[in-house]
Amino acid sequence: SIPLGYFGGIGLASRNGILFKGSNYLDVMTKVDTVVMDKTGTLTKGVFEVQEVIAHTIDKDKLVVLTAALESKSTHPIAHAIVRYSKDSYKSVSVSDVEEIAGHGLSGTVEGRKVLAGNLKLLKKYGIAYDKAIESKVETIVVIAVNDEYVGYFTIADELKEDAHVAISRLHELGIKTVMLSGDKQSIVDKVAQALQIDAAYGDLLPENKVEKVQELKDKGRTIAFVGDGVNDAPVIALADAGIAMGGLGSDATIETADIVIQNDQPSKIASSIQIGKVTRRIVM
Ligand code: ADP
Ligand code: MG
Repeated sequence: SIPLGYFGGIGLASRNGILFKGSNYLDVMTKVDTVVMDKTGTLTKGVFEVQEVIAHTIDKDKLVVLTAALESKSTHPIAHAIVRYSKDSYKSVSVSDVEEIAGHGLSGTVEGRKVLAGNLKLLKKYGIAYDKAIESKVETIVVIAVNDEYVGYFTIADELKEDAHVAISRLHELGIKTVMLSGDKQSIVDKVAQALQIDAAYGDLLPENKVEKVQELKDKGRTIAFVGDGVNDAPVIALADAGIAMGGLGSDATIETADIVIQNDQPSKIASSIQIGKVTRRIVM
């Protein structure tokens, strides 16, 4: 039978907007020594905004329409930003054969043209030449190719969540190591990690690389909580000792797989989950 204290713990958590799917995870959280987090949507708002559009060998409005039409088929936060920026100018454009290429971006047919939208890895994958100067950009960029020719890029930006700093400092006060994993470029990942004083941060990761990183840490004997929001985070949430999903932004697959759901998406609730676990244990024992 489950000791009464555990019900108290689950209730306390739920009043704090944290859904524990089983009382055993209260216990697991007390043993966690390393919290691994996704960047986008977990520590940052995951609401991107287009800053600039640079068009090279194509009309700028045309570039926006073609890209927005393709991105309208994606649920990625980057896609939402580009669609919003286009102000619905893509609505009557025909789009077909859209494919999400995990960790890279999108490909599809727009008005009979083959359009690619994603990061530089995507262009490299397709062997498309581009202006080398864009490699040194520090912002997040979405590069576009039309009919296998690089034609321009969008710069986009995201912001830290209000409680991101507190979230990390509270974990450090509890003696927890913090690790950030991201599909975003290393330069941006480093900037965020430095701002938040995160212990270790890895960028340019494909979804399977996130799984490998968490497995490496587990092999070293660490007890891991992983926190993520995206559909690509489901495998790594499943692998972690405690898988935590951001409930508001999170995809259905992520929330389904998670052991713990943070309903209002505040990363400071990660430390709260650990503290609630510890309080509950004191009551039970
Ligand atoms: P993360 O959530 O850590 O950024 P993802 O795997 O969701 O990781 O995305 C990794 C990268 O792939 C993004 O940073 C972006 O460069 C690119 N990408 C993914 N989806 C899209 C999309 N719909 N449009 C443009 N780029 C995309
Ligand atoms: Mg993500």
